[in-house]
Amino acid sequence: MRKIFMSNPIVEIDGDEMARIMWHWVKEKLIEPFIELKVEYYDLYIKVRDKTNDRITVEAAEAIKRVGIGVKCATITPNAERVKEYNLKKEWRSPNATIREILDGTIFRAPILVKNIVPAVRFWKKPIVVARHAFGDIYSGTGIRFDDVGEAEIVYRSKSGREIRVRIGAFSGPGVLQAYYNIDKSIESFARAVFKYALMNSLNVWFAAKETISKVYDARFKEIFQEIFDREFKESFSERGLKYEYYLIDDAYARAMRSEGGFVWAAKNYDGDVLSDMLAAAYSGSLAMMTSELLSPEGHYMAEAAHGTVQRHYYRYLRGEKTSTNPTAIIFAWSRALRKRGERDGLDALIKFTEVLEEAVKKTIEVDRIVTQDIAKVMEGQPSLIATTEEFIESVRKNLEHLYQHKLKNCK
Ligand code: NAP
Ligand code: MG
Repeated sequence: MRKIFMSNPIVEIDGDEMARIMWHWVKEKLIEPFIELKVEYYDLYIKVRDKTNDRITVEAAEAIKRVGIGVKCATITPNAERVKEYNLKKEWRSPNATIREILDGTIFRAPILVKNIVPAVRFWKKPIVVARHAFGDIYSGTGIRFDDVGEAEIVYRSKSGREIRVRIGAFSGPGVLQAYYNIDKSIESFARAVFKYALMNSLNVWFAAKETISKVYDARFKEIFQEIFDREFKESFSERGLKYEYYLIDDAYARAMRSEGGFVWAAKNYDGDVLSDMLAAAYSGSLAMMTSELLSPEGHYMAEAAHGTVQRHYYRYLRGEKTSTNPTAIIFAWSRALRKRGERDGLDALIKFTEVLEEAVKKTIEVDRIVTQDIAKVMEGQPSLIATTEEFIESVRKNLEHLYQHKLKNCK
């Protein structure tokens, strides 16, 4: 079989535990036999991060800036338990947070739809993609618990010493209060990444907040979204027949329930946190059927699975058991990153291959009804086989070979 050519590399970022095991199976069985793979490889295995004092994570992010496209395996975000387990020097930061920060990127999470998993909302025919603004809000907020009658005000002091004071309120007894912030530059980057992603994928954009109540904070988000849209994206959106719409967030929830999906929903940090878990559960109930893409305002791109390292399955694997861990999102991360490479370099065969790869996975689940355990629990009808990870990949491989022979023969 002649392998598909790549003119430029993508950045491959390796990870931990069961995700890492599946990563290599997918690469060996579904990618390398078909593609003359060109990668810049960065190993974010927890021990390597520890050894390099996490330098490797920064290097991987810098590489994506240079190369433009990356694909990432799930990685452990160390906590106290992990420090003990892997004998680490410290609780290193979440690699995803580091990479996102360096690229100034926005995360887009989208469900992978298959016919035999019916969304909880029966109107949904297309994915709803959540774009979460991963900056500010309560995640960097501060609170006070007070224990007496009293009052509070909020003070902003500029670098030059000018002060703005606003009264929060007077309190009749013990209670709590909270303050949080955002900055224009971050909201602007977020808006740009959202509109850019929507153009790339031909999707309408919704942004939802509650500016009628949050008259300063949410109102500023709304204003910035509108300004960026009008100034930088309005024309290309109208050329493509796409729309940007702002909704009050309660209205957006109600509309989404009656929609058929097929749009990007941009959400503030906390809203996006809640929304993305709700949508994941409503679309399929399995994180293994969800992709996660990072896009920066400059167009740097990274694809990964939405799930983590699947720790519990890994311990079973280490005991020599066969696990039924679902590699679908990992396969899709590879196909999305390679497709982006194909699109940017004008490589039709590579683009076609990624379509065929995704089709092979869907055929395995929909037609062969060969599924992993997480899918068996939520699918319509009976599976023909509840497969181990390796069996599942083997079935995808068979479908892929068949489709490859039929659909890629004449592609250069
Ligand atoms: P997780 O790895 O996503 O797994 C949570 C549970 O979801 C699993 O125990 C499993 O349920 C199910 N699951 C997830 N992926 C699956 C798949 N591919 N196939 C079948 N079932 C799947 O989340 P976690 O256990 O909270 O986190 C584990 C580690 O991953 C942590 O160290 C965390 O820091 C890291 N993490 C990394 C990323 C990332 O790099 N992007 C994201 C999230 C978490 P059952 O056990 O019930 O089968
Ligand atoms: Mg959440």
